Amino acid sequence: MRIPIVAGNWKMNGSASFANEMCQQINAFAADLDVEVVLSPPSVYLAQVQLAAENYSTAAQNVHFAAAGAYTGEVSTAMLRDVGCGYVLIGHSERRAMFAEIQEVLAKKLAAAVEAKLLPILCVGETLEQRQQGQAFAVVKQQLLSAISGLDITADQIVVAYEPIWAIGTGETASPEQAQEMHSYIRTVLAEQISVAMAAKTRILYGGSVNAETASQLFSQPDIDGGLVGGASLKIEDFKNICSAAASQ
Ligand code: PEP
Repeated sequence: MRIPIVAGNWKMNGSASFANEMCQQINAFAADLDVEVVLSPPSVYLAQVQLAAENYSTAAQNVHFAAAGAYTGEVSTAMLRDVGCGYVLIGHSERRAMFAEIQEVLAKKLAAAVEAKLLPILCVGETLEQRQQGQAFAVVKQQLLSAISGLDITADQIVVAYEPIWAIGTGETASPEQAQEMHSYIRTVLAEQISVAMAAKTRILYGGSVNAETASQLFSQPDIDGGLVGGASLKIEDFKNICSAAASQ
């Protein structure tokens, strides 16, 4: 009932020739796949990757909430729409930690994306310390609610990505059980905040050191609807295997 998504976040990696190769390979590979494949290159390559898109979509890694103006270095939702981009990552833990993206700013970005009909992939997740102190669920709930409160959104206006910070780029993946427990909890929070129907239809992705070996078990969990993939999305064969794992669930 929920079509899975596998999104590859290249972060600040890649080149024009890498993008070209990836686009060709994914166009050929994803033609008959029952998965939405999303490529998220650095913004300088976004238009190139989107122009080549036949069987995938693109996601920006960031966006500004203002419509236009004196915001050197930023891009707007309208600019992303203008080049055909369909998704935008919001609240990635690297942006929260390294670029001081506080919750108020993320809420504005989310609202701007929804308003512009860009599909936000809202990233939430706890640190290792928060997990060890038994705060993981409270932290994720707070991140989720501070981003969506006040918005009357439907399941086709948002994607949530649970990305425990301790699993991002560390090689340490959450166990399928740990991930499932949090995904199910996120669905409960959405049901309480918005509606049971919306919660049941919303895609919730797992992110954090997903690789070709761990993908199948993670994606077979009932509340995991695909993945947000960092490091492994730069290895074309690994990324294809991860997409295949999502398709076979
Ligand atoms: C990410 O950056 O969203 C991510 C999940 O990275 P990695 O797969 O490398 O842990």
